[in-house]
Amino acid sequence: FCVAQNYAQHAVEMGSSGREDPFFFMKPASSVVPVAAGTVQPVPYPSGTQSLHHEVELVVALGRCGSNVDPARAEELIYGYAVGLDLTRRDLQTALKAKGRPWEIAKGFEASGPVGAIMPREEVGTLVRGGIRLSVDGEERQSGDLDQMIWNVNEIISHLSRHWSLVAGDIVFTGTPAGVGAVVRGNHLQGSIDGLDGIQVELV
Ligand code: MN
Repeated sequence: FCVAQNYAQHAVEMGSSGREDPFFFMKPASSVVPVAAGTVQPVPYPSGTQSLHHEVELVVALGRCGSNVDPARAEELIYGYAVGLDLTRRDLQTALKAKGRPWEIAKGFEASGPVGAIMPREEVGTLVRGGIRLSVDGEERQSGDLDQMIWNVNEIISHLSRHWSLVAGDIVFTGTPAGVGAVVRGNHLQGSIDGLDGIQVELV
C-alpha cells in the first residue's frame, strides 16, 4: 500500500492545497526490490518515461493481521521499518491524472519500489519523528522529518484496515517529503531515515 501526498509541502508541489485528506494506491509485489544494507543495488530505468522521479519514504512492514484497527492499537501491527523509494513515471502520472485515469503504469511497474533492510520495531523503537533525506550523486534533493506527515503511521494503518484486511507481510509506503525530481541512468540514489539503515540504488 502507498499513501499519496502525505507531507504538506509535497502535496503543494503536486498541485493540491496541502490540506486534503491523503489517499491510497498500490504497487504489486513485483515492484519490490530488496536492498541489503551497505550495498548499491542496480535498478533498471523503466521504459516509457522521460521523467522518472525519486520519492524517499518510510516503509512500514506489518507483522500481524488486522481489520478495523483503532489508531491507538495500530502500533501493535507494526513489525518494523525500512527506507524505501517510490519510483514514479511522473510524465505518465501527470497525463493519467489529467484524464482521471488510474496510475498503475506510473507507479506499479517492476522494480518501482526498492526497499532497504527492514529493522524490527523491537530494536529501533516506534518511529514518529526523525530526519528523512534523499541525495542524488551526493547532492541532497529531499529533506524532511517524519513528524511532518499529515496522517501519522497509526492513522494510516487504521484507515487502511477499514478498507482492507491487513495481513502480516503487507508493507506500507507512507509518503514522501518535498523535493521530488527527475533522475537519469547512472544516477546514484541514497535514501536515509534517522535510526534506520539507509538504501542505495544505481539506475542502470
Ligand atoms: Mn510516494
